[in-house]
Amino acid sequence: MTPHSDPLIDYAAGRWTGPVVRFLGLPKPVQLKREAGPYRLNELENHNIAVGAVEGSYALDAVKQALQQMGGMVRPGPVWDNSSKVEIVVFDATGCRDVASLSQLRTFFVPLMRQLAECARIVVLAADPLECEQPVARAAATGIEGFVRTLAKEVGRKGSTANLLYVSRDAVDRLDGPLRFFCSHRSAYVSGRPVRVGNEVKPVTSNKEALRLKGKIAVVTGAARGLGQATAIRLAEEGAKVICVDVPGAKAALDELAAQLGGESLALDITSADAPTILVQFLLKKTQVLDVLVHNAGITRDKMLANMTEAQWELVMAVNLKAIIDIDAAVDAAGLLQAGSREICLSSISGVAGNAGQSNYATSKAALMGYASARGKLLAADGITINCVAPGFIETEMTKKIPLMIREAGRRMNALSQGGLPRDVAELVTFLALPESSGVSAQTIRVCGQAMLGA
Ligand code: NAD
Repeated sequence: MTPHSDPLIDYAAGRWTGPVVRFLGLPKPVQLKREAGPYRLNELENHNIAVGAVEGSYALDAVKQALQQMGGMVRPGPVWDNSSKVEIVVFDATGCRDVASLSQLRTFFVPLMRQLAECARIVVLAADPLECEQPVARAAATGIEGFVRTLAKEVGRKGSTANLLYVSRDAVDRLDGPLRFFCSHRSAYVSGRPVRVGNEVKPVTSNKEALRLKGKIAVVTGAARGLGQATAIRLAEEGAKVICVDVPGAKAALDELAAQLGGESLALDITSADAPTILVQFLLKKTQVLDVLVHNAGITRDKMLANMTEAQWELVMAVNLKAIIDIDAAVDAAGLLQAGSREICLSSISGVAGNAGQSNYATSKAALMGYASARGKLLAADGITINCVAPGFIETEMTKKIPLMIREAGRRMNALSQGGLPRDVAELVTFLALPESSGVSAQTIRVCGQAMLGA
């Protein structure tokens, strides 16, 4: 069983406590399935996958090939024998160009809805709306987003997810990585998300070894605990040598983690004036290329705006935003990011939706989204991606301290009726760090169980 700190998951599943949970009308969160260890070459082995397409779609062959290479048992849906449950559904709707073709979503999915396994994965592919110049064609492409977001809300109570890949016609060869992530239990807490797969970023030859980050150098800031620690562990599982960065006060925990992962530790306050130089000098002694840069360190100093002091505002900006911009400038000047490098910034759904008492934090986290979208365009020609990851309610030491009623509201107000685990965030960061994610850049992806907050 996956470790979690949500007793309601156990009560809802319990023989004696389950009826009480139902009687009280409480949400019945399902224990989410998650994967342990690194990706396997046959990640989807023995999984029943229903695959279908709207006539005239352009990604179906690439989808089938990718799923079969991952060991999936691909079957045409919606024709499905009743003896086995459908664990994964992939529907290529890139051919949807008018109102009539949208009906095929209904035709395909209705018979499958009662055959879905618990914690099923649904992935729908649509044409990139920006490539649909005709109003009706763009209407069809964006209509699919409403469908998928709704589907995610309907299947969430069974622990299942639904996500949308907007795939450019020229990027069907970039689907392996996104399909591996969104069709597997690696994406347990990512749902209702539209993600663009494009071809702006030059791909590098993908390492088809099982350990996909073998021999790569990764930096994770704020690695001593929480999401940064989970991310460092996850990247090391894929073979990366992780340089763990955190404040000098966290040196003991940092050293212990780095030793455990076979990485290195660097005790450094990222807001200090010489931090970018120190980090770059440290890296240049070891490598000419920084393969993965995860800007994870972040802080909150919450106060309603009427009471927000200059110090609270400036400190949050310094850690969450300015330090990232300064480190990037130094890393760029040293030419450490090269073709195939990956940069990931930790944003927040507070930055998407806003949150009372977090004007400083939400400003810094929303700023990161704009930063990544503009910087992504600059880095694309060099074959480098940058994305933001925006977590929702994640079970950490930080969220344990939130008062009970507010914590319960935050934890339940999502399609899966539960909080995520640090591992869920680490999985999304890891997907974005892999060579196979070259089609995904300049975007913000939420890992929030389809939280009701924000879009
Ligand atoms: P955390 O407080 O548990 O860990 C943050 C780490 O960053 C700590 O180890 C801290 O020492 C380090 N850090 C802080 N200031 C630093 C500095 N100046 N220099 C170097 N290191 C510094 O936080 P977390 O919950 O693990 O969150 C990690 C990131 O994810 C943050 O950016 C946070 O804003 C974001 N986030 C978290 C959640 C959540 O639910 N936990 C939700 C949304 C976004």
